[in-house]
Amino acid sequence: MEIRYNSTRSKSAPVKASEAILRGLSEDGGLFVPDSIPALDVSVDKLAEMDYQQTAYEVMKLFLTDFTGEELKDCITKAYDEKFDTEEIVPIVEKDGVYYLELFHGATIAFKDMALSILPHLLTTSAKKNHVKNEIVILTATSGDTGKAALSGFADVEGTRIIVFYPKNGVSPIQEKQMITQKGKNTCVVGIHGNFDDAQTGVKKIFGDRKLAEEMDAKGFQLSSANSINIGRLVPQIVYYVYAYGQLLKEGKIKAGEKINVTVPTGNFGNILAAYYAKQMGLPIDRLICASNENKVLYDFFRTGTYDRNREFVLTSSPSMDILISSNLERLIYHIAGNDADKSRELMSALTQGGTYTITESMKEKLADFYGNYANEDETAETIRSLYEKTGYVIDTHTAVASCVYEKYRKETKDTKLTVLASTASPFKFTRSVMEAIGGGYGQMEDFELADKLSEISGVTMPKAIEEIRTAPVLHNHVCEKDEMKQAMTGFLSL
Ligand SMILES: *Cc1c(COP(=O)(O)O)cnc(C)c1O
Repeated sequence: MEIRYNSTRSKSAPVKASEAILRGLSEDGGLFVPDSIPALDVSVDKLAEMDYQQTAYEVMKLFLTDFTGEELKDCITKAYDEKFDTEEIVPIVEKDGVYYLELFHGATIAFKDMALSILPHLLTTSAKKNHVKNEIVILTATSGDTGKAALSGFADVEGTRIIVFYPKNGVSPIQEKQMITQKGKNTCVVGIHGNFDDAQTGVKKIFGDRKLAEEMDAKGFQLSSANSINIGRLVPQIVYYVYAYGQLLKEGKIKAGEKINVTVPTGNFGNILAAYYAKQMGLPIDRLICASNENKVLYDFFRTGTYDRNREFVLTSSPSMDILISSNLERLIYHIAGNDADKSRELMSALTQGGTYTITESMKEKLADFYGNYANEDETAETIRSLYEKTGYVIDTHTAVASCVYEKYRKETKDTKLTVLASTASPFKFTRSVMEAIGGGYGQMEDFELADKLSEISGVTMPKAIEEIRTAPVLHNHVCEKDEMKQAMTGFLSL
């Protein structure tokens, strides 16, 4: 069955999957949503026999219906290869009764790799299918993690270039080193004198510059984005929930058809929305446990039905979840409104204008699958420490938020169903916070020393991603003012 993609904000003509991937965002500002959620067409018994790549094909073919089987398999093969440090791609580790789904075995040791290693291939294939002759130029502003994952995904992918802007003094030393040592002839990394918002604003300005777009087109370039709302990032994230179910079945941890829960540390609501789609496809999932840090907008939303971003922004030790506007929630809003674009447009415009909206009672009833809670900074650190003391297993701060929230859920509900917890980053990515949580006076050490110590106490080999940047040469040293971003880009493209 062919799936088409509608906007969450209007009934404009639906587009094919490849067009939705190319465009990223609908012209009316809405997000693309599938016009129906396809049902899994393999039995769960079959799932247990499949490796990651096969599972990816079974899931993605149902959503990206204008891709040929060959095109899709080619994208999957290029994405999920030796860039991952384990053949399983996403191993499941059981500790203290929880099944940690380790989504951090890709090139930049965070779960963004799951989608960003395939997006470049989906994008270039989409360009070919739609007879786009131009080279695709990916333009991104980053506060740290997304930039590196995007650079790594797009590096040396034919037909693409990528330019990343980051706040020169606004990312961690390890994050900066990761980016400025990036290899690949088609990559460009620029620090700006300004904060993340300045970088973001500058990028939006370039996207809105019609004259520039014409000049670029004349020279054979067109802009695109690797933003987390692209369906080309969402669909690959459904795969690992389906794969996890198959693996649990294979290992005899569950019986075919038995329901499991899923717990997800949440920021922009992309990862947990993928789990929701997996459930809609027929995967036996019961509750979707949504974990927030002290920026607990989502917890308040699930409790009250009111989304309210008017509050203080808190900087936490789980920075990838420090978000007050969870962009992907718009898709869930659209679905629980009965795929009603008028309703979701009305609510989203209330959010833009007053920073808040309230859903109807009947919409709220459709949220019964979700459970929301949050962990504060002390609870997060305590979760890392106590799990380490009990089992020797070290988790990162984001994963710890989820682990703490799951514990709250279990106490509150006495629900003992097997639970898969999305482990979104390697502890080596947030070494300092992790080591401080474990305690023992490591706080004074240098970043790389700390990583050595973490490797020693956890018995986990230092990931290649960290080992590499220790000695890697700096390849990008361009720094510019925040109003010079356009020149930086046109310089790189020799326009
Ligand atoms: C991006 C990110 C998250 C949040 O994921 P969303 O899909 O935005 O909800 C959680 N943990 C880590 C480590 C991340 O990088």
